[in-house]
Amino acid sequence: DVKRAGLGFGFYDAGNDPHTPRRLRLMTELRRGLEKEELRLHYQPKVDLASGHVTGVEALVRWQHPKHGLLYPDEFLPMASRTGLINPLTDWVLQAALRQCMDWRAQGMRVRIAVNVDAMAFQQADLAERIFALLTRTGAPAECLEIEITENLLTGDLDKCSAVLARLADRGITIAIDDYGTGYSSLAYLKQLSLHTLKIDKSFVMDMCHDENDAVIVRSTVDLAHNLGYTVVAEGVEDAEILQLLEILGCDSAQGYHIARPMEPDALAAWLSQRPAG
Ligand code: C2E
Ligand code: CA
Ligand code: CA
Ligand code: CA
Repeated sequence: DVKRAGLGFGFYDAGNDPHTPRRLRLMTELRRGLEKEELRLHYQPKVDLASGHVTGVEALVRWQHPKHGLLYPDEFLPMASRTGLINPLTDWVLQAALRQCMDWRAQGMRVRIAVNVDAMAFQQADLAERIFALLTRTGAPAECLEIEITENLLTGDLDKCSAVLARLADRGITIAIDDYGTGYSSLAYLKQLSLHTLKIDKSFVMDMCHDENDAVIVRSTVDLAHNLGYTVVAEGVEDAEILQLLEILGCDSAQGYHIARPMEPDALAAWLSQRPAG
């Protein structure tokens, strides 16, 4: 892992530092990149464990940088969310995903697209209106869209966030809590928010076959989610053994390299067409 090699001292992790000179320079370029349509969405499927059917795809943003090639979100998102740039970026991602959903529908493929929305965006009261306007502009129905929010949204004003989520859910947009288990929040918010899905973070899933604590966390999360009436997705499913254990634990769906990597839209359409219909 080149990014984390450093000088071998182990206390400087460039992977998490948004202030390296390269990243500061990238930030000034991102605004232009957005305008020049250099951002791309890749899509990774999620499948139902019992039936194998595709339950949706997650949109993951990449930046096709003219000089540096394809950049992944950890290179530019942390800085974007510290600056106002995350808002135009979020709007671009939502619009691109909804357009893609309409393209696929025109080809006879109905698939719900999950979009990651930064927790900061939920502090803006007009987020729901912006999303409704994008639905109108693209002609996409609400069932095209799922929103994934990370658990740390609770560092902001919970009432504001709760109101926005309720409006989105009323309209038929589904809501998933992302990276579940990595935040520091109390469980009380789970009752207060309009949610449909808990997404178990890959840090618990990847080693669950060898780490008993991880397996216990996954099992408890599955039970908790089901008792609250939510579905559960596990991310980071890298081998068949994990997939099998998740099924035994009653997890509803799964996402990860073992099933499929994030793909460009055409590759995803080809992948979907090879799957049994459902
Ligand atoms: P996330 O939402 O938790 O997304 C899952 C990440 O794990 C993705 O990394 C995905 O490519 C990767 N992944 C998928 N399957 C596996 C697997 O089996 N093993 C392993 N080790 N990794 C797997 P990616 O695409 O680099 O995205 C990183 C993070 O950036 C995402 O984490 C999400 O928090 C954020 N992100 C991505 N796209 C967007 C976006 O459009 N808007 C916002 N606000 N955040 C985004
Ligand atoms: Ca996500
Ligand atoms: Ca995650
Ligand atoms: Ca995340």
